[in-house]
Amino acid sequence: MVLEIEEKIQIDDIPLTRKNFEEILQLSRSILSGENPPGYIVTLNPEILTLSRKDPELKSAIQKATLVVPDGIGITWAVKKLFSLEIKRVPGIDLGEALIKICAQEGFTVFFLGAKPGIGQMVEASFKAKYPNLEVTGVHHGYFSEKEQEGVIKEIGNAMPSLVIVGMGAGKQEKFLSCLPRSFYRLGITVGGSLDIWAGTKKRAPLWMRKAGLEWLYRILKEPGRLIRLLKTMPFFLGVLWKKRKS
Ligand code: UDP
Repeated sequence: MVLEIEEKIQIDDIPLTRKNFEEILQLSRSILSGENPPGYIVTLNPEILTLSRKDPELKSAIQKATLVVPDGIGITWAVKKLFSLEIKRVPGIDLGEALIKICAQEGFTVFFLGAKPGIGQMVEASFKAKYPNLEVTGVHHGYFSEKEQEGVIKEIGNAMPSLVIVGMGAGKQEKFLSCLPRSFYRLGITVGGSLDIWAGTKKRAPLWMRKAGLEWLYRILKEPGRLIRLLKTMPFFLGVLWKKRKS
């Protein structure tokens, strides 16, 4: 499969894919197998988009991604308002898990990067219990300084994984992937706080809340400190409403 030119939705100069979950997996498989060039997937939400408005390095890291997928419900809502298009959310946690399953089934290797020390090892153990064939070529926590980053990059270069799962929070994870030489891996994906959920140290919202598009509310109820982060994204939501009113 050759990477076809796709008509993407432009949101804040960020090209958002219109591919559905299955199509994203198909493209990912072709990247993992070497049929398509290496690259990474950014799972966009309003927080990342808001940060990128004041951070050109982050904006460029997102723009350089092979695919930007709509992770947050706020993004699918904005697309509906601005373009009258119904697109489905592609949660990074579900996409990450589906990619790990493909790796286990098709013999590709995985590197887990991010979260607090010890979490990555728990994630590795949990996925190995589920998929005994899974080959994990490395694990590293996400709390390293800029100076230490070179060492982490080298570690990934030595491990040469097919898939790099990066869960280091909005901004840091996207910039890291844009710095990681593409010859060191095939496919990368940003997954936010998914490593904590896979490790079992945090819980995901119940299915009914996810189906109702209320995963964000669950996270705020569990961690009220997140409300500040949500408030910081208000200009994005208000901007969408403003543009819609003018059109
Ligand atoms: N994190 C990290 N390095 C940092 C800051 C955060 O590895 O310097 C990890 C943090 O431990 C957590 C994840 O990044 O596992 C961010 O989770 P959060 O729930 O904030 O992300 P979201 O899913 O909301 O984007």
